[in-house]
Amino acid sequence: MYTLIKDGELYSPDYMGKQDILLVFDKILKISPKIDLPDNIGEVNEINASGKYIVPGFIDQHVHLIGGGGEGGPVTRTPEIMLSDLTMAGVTTVVGLLGVDGITRSMNELFAKAKALEFEGITTYIYSGAYEIPTRTITGNVRSDLVLIDKVIGVGEIAISDHRSAQPTVEMLIKLASEVRVGGMLGSKAGVLHIHLGEGKQGLKLIFEALNKSDLPITQFVPTHVNRLEPLFREAISFMRSGGVIDLTSGITPENDSPSSLEVKEALKIIAKENKGFDLVTVSSDSNGSLPSFDSLGNLVKIDVGSAKQLWEDIRSAIIEGVVTLPTAVSLITRNVARLLRLTPKKGIIAIGSDADLVLLNSIDFKIDTVIAKGKVMVTDGIPKVKGYFEKGAI
Ligand code: ZN
Repeated sequence: MYTLIKDGELYSPDYMGKQDILLVFDKILKISPKIDLPDNIGEVNEINASGKYIVPGFIDQHVHLIGGGGEGGPVTRTPEIMLSDLTMAGVTTVVGLLGVDGITRSMNELFAKAKALEFEGITTYIYSGAYEIPTRTITGNVRSDLVLIDKVIGVGEIAISDHRSAQPTVEMLIKLASEVRVGGMLGSKAGVLHIHLGEGKQGLKLIFEALNKSDLPITQFVPTHVNRLEPLFREAISFMRSGGVIDLTSGITPENDSPSSLEVKEALKIIAKENKGFDLVTVSSDSNGSLPSFDSLGNLVKIDVGSAKQLWEDIRSAIIEGVVTLPTAVSLITRNVARLLRLTPKKGIIAIGSDADLVLLNSIDFKIDTVIAKGKVMVTDGIPKVKGYFEKGAI
């Protein structure tokens, strides 16, 4: 029932000093420099957080929960994620999505996997869709998915500027975005259009055109993977200057991707120079998606799989190298994402009444020590305490 976290340094993500935090069931009940509970209150799980930083549970808005890929045929379909892959990465809220393969993967399967992970202890949402337009849905169209299915909070990932996209025209993109907008309004959801950017020469052009030719607000479009090429990233900066939110992808490196790819920390350095702040920046992992490399003729050269752990690894190295402060770094995967997806104040912050989703970091090396999701301790000392239904050691 009660979990009392003592003596940690609280980052809500803003720095709040040394605080005790009292959790009751799945909510945060009290935050105070000193909380003492009466003896007769019943069972209390007390956690000593001395020497730890307490931050909100991470929100990863781009995870291929049931796997993705398939660019090299069925043998390259990537595996589905397991509960502890997420919790060990500090992720307590996840948004699942389909990718290039909307044929052998279905929205129904994605929905079921999201339900399973929710049952296992974390919070899950999904985007309707896959790379293509017209895209994949549960009910037959994206508008009704947003209105009728609680877990659907947006549409994605729709691919543009990529040889694997449906090569959509601007009219197709505007039509889809307007369906998402109205669906989001009627369903009281964020209703974002989460857009995969490939290495194509058009970059963000289609999104800028859609904005020019329609009355849709810029907040409707969320371009992701924008750090995969420096020229694309420069376009993303001007998108951000106009008030749009951009999403970086962890794990991208010049060694593994393109020579002009930017690691998350390098992209953050450029944003810091812009002096516009980081409120319109988020980072996601692309976990369990395929990371294919193609040669100049479009032939598949190699294929890897994305990992949820990389999300914090990339953020952590940006902190250690002094690129961003801890509160700013944590905001990129907590408060900023929650704001974008309209999950605040339930998610993304540590505040009274918010969900009890917390990560305890070792203050020496910023490594993940403890993860609490909806009031339940999922990871202790970096080791999973709770495992998914079919994970080794779980049954
Ligand atoms: Zn993608």
